[in-house]
Amino acid sequence: MYATNYHRASSVDEAVKLLSDTDEGKYVSGGMTLIATMKQRLASPSDLVDLRHIPSIKGIRVDGRRVTIGAATTHAEVASSAAIRAVCPALCDLAGMIGDPHVRHMGTIGGSVANNDPAADYPSAMLALNATIVTDRRQIAADDFFRGLFETALGGAELITSIAFDAPERAGYAKFPNPASRYAMTGVFVAKGAGGVRVAVTGAGANGVFRLGAMEQALAANWLPEAVAGVTVDPDELLSDLHATAEYRANLIKVMAKRAVAAA
Ligand SMILES: Cc1cc2nc3c(=O)[nH]c(=O)nc-3n(C[C@H](O)[C@H](O)[C@H](O)COP(=O)(O)OP(=O)(O)OC[C@H]3O[C@@H](n4cnc5c(N)ncnc54)[C@H](O)[C@@H]3O)c2cc1C
Repeated sequence: MYATNYHRASSVDEAVKLLSDTDEGKYVSGGMTLIATMKQRLASPSDLVDLRHIPSIKGIRVDGRRVTIGAATTHAEVASSAAIRAVCPALCDLAGMIGDPHVRHMGTIGGSVANNDPAADYPSAMLALNATIVTDRRQIAADDFFRGLFETALGGAELITSIAFDAPERAGYAKFPNPASRYAMTGVFVAKGAGGVRVAVTGAGANGVFRLGAMEQALAANWLPEAVAGVTVDPDELLSDLHATAEYRANLIKVMAKRAVAAA
């Protein structure tokens, strides 16, 4: 690991100012991705600005069906939230499937969304739930936020403060985890609400998380697990790697979608 300067921020403004004043600094939240990549010498930020001691970006609020989750809220807190479970149990189930207990007690929703790993679970939920990513300076719709592999709409020193969404009538998540890392080899989040049906896929896209229009139409016409059977998933834009071919992932998308609808 290369040497770095550590800063502990106690407010959003202080964090943004601290990061803006660095050469090539980075925010650190749970550190579950960033510290690991620094240890492997794949990242060498000049400075780390710690977000874990900012009270205003922690915690969960549910007002009616409006869910707001602070960016520094851990996966374990989301998984065990009775308030979220009452309106959107699928998100608690998803958080409970991330990594292992250590990762879930350190990793945060803001870190996961900012990192936009193509195999991460949360990005699919954000897209399917039509969530809003709230930052220190604006609100970004999930449809505009995820821009490709590890790429997002975030600008320099822009800090995610919370995630918000209206809980849909029904939602479900199913993933086929890599048995070693537990990241999604393919994960599908389905949601049915006032705005219609949204289906988002993680772990399978060559360009990261994406929505599957054909499946959204099929499920809007018939919200049943069997409705996905007739949908064709084109492997051309899917990922092929040592874990699975694009064709295998295309099949997994249909299987996971079926399970997600059944779970919903
Ligand atoms: C063994 C292992 C297994 C895992 N399995 C899974 C899995 O099954 N599914 C899954 O989805 N993930 C998995 N992860 C990743 C885990 O969920 C991480 O918690 C997550 O990717 C990053 O969150 P973090 O809070 O640790 O972020 P960090 O590592 O602290 O930061 C990640 C990136 O986000 C930036 N960042 C952090 N917070 C903010 C913010 N509020 N605003 C702007 N930028 C910010 C940082 O600068 C950095 O670039 C796994 C990780 C490990 C180590």
